[in-house]
Amino acid sequence: MIVFLYILAILLTWMIGTVSFSFVNVIAYRYPKEKKILKEHFTCDSCETQLKPYETIPVLSYIFLRGKCRYCGEKIPKRDFINEIIGGLTALLVFFRFGDADEITGPFVMSSPLDIVVHFDIWKLLILLTIFVFFCILDLVFLVDFDTMEIPNRFVIVLLYVAVVALLVLPGINIIDHLIGAVCISVPMLLIMFAIPGAFGGGDMKLSAAVGLIIGWQLVIIGFFIGLLAGGIYGIVLLISKKKDRKDHFAFGPFLCTGYMIATICGMELIDAYMKLAAIIHG
Ligand SMILES: [Zn+2]
Repeated sequence: MIVFLYILAILLTWMIGTVSFSFVNVIAYRYPKEKKILKEHFTCDSCETQLKPYETIPVLSYIFLRGKCRYCGEKIPKRDFINEIIGGLTALLVFFRFGDADEITGPFVMSSPLDIVVHFDIWKLLILLTIFVFFCILDLVFLVDFDTMEIPNRFVIVLLYVAVVALLVLPGINIIDHLIGAVCISVPMLLIMFAIPGAFGGGDMKLSAAVGLIIGWQLVIIGFFIGLLAGGIYGIVLLISKKKDRKDHFAFGPFLCTGYMIATICGMELIDAYMKLAAIIHG
């Protein structure tokens, strides 16, 4: 019975993840054009044919339709498919990682998710939902910044609402950690922006302030450096392949969002691993 419940929970989590990220992707596409989202979620972007329900199932529809619209033959962007899979995996990661809030060893590190299935606990569900909604918004910022090189203030404001809930429900981080988190990355970023105009965007700074308020100073610092490292490597690759000039800019938000997600899931483990590695190297 428990095995059955467990499998059901995993399937449900996967479905919630893929559907949510699929919807986020639609918002990201439509956002710059400000189209109506719900009505047009279920039409083909190319020929605008109304899709049947089974043609809108995340991941599966793409596979069954072999990546093409059945009516006009137009290719469905691979990005939709990849984003949906990442959504499913993200939801599963959140579920396994934060399923049980009883044992806290660092900023919200928890164990066995089976507990939330067996003893249904609304509080734990609230923690899972908070983290997952946070990740959905990061996905939205990722996609919109990638497309438009802009992080709309509206998304930062939504993150601030999440922060209010996070202050109340996330275990293992106290209010001081949250408040330091809001300024420990954003303020240095602001100073660097004054010193080197164009180093960061104002959106990156506001994003980092809101994210820091949600996950606290430890994780936001770790996430920022993951993002900086990834963005730096990407920038060097672009320079070497001469796709961009030194003066050109690329959106840094997607790297920040990725860094913040990774840090939220396994930031403390990464620090532990780094410390152990450093200890080995220094004997
Ligand atoms: Zn079509």
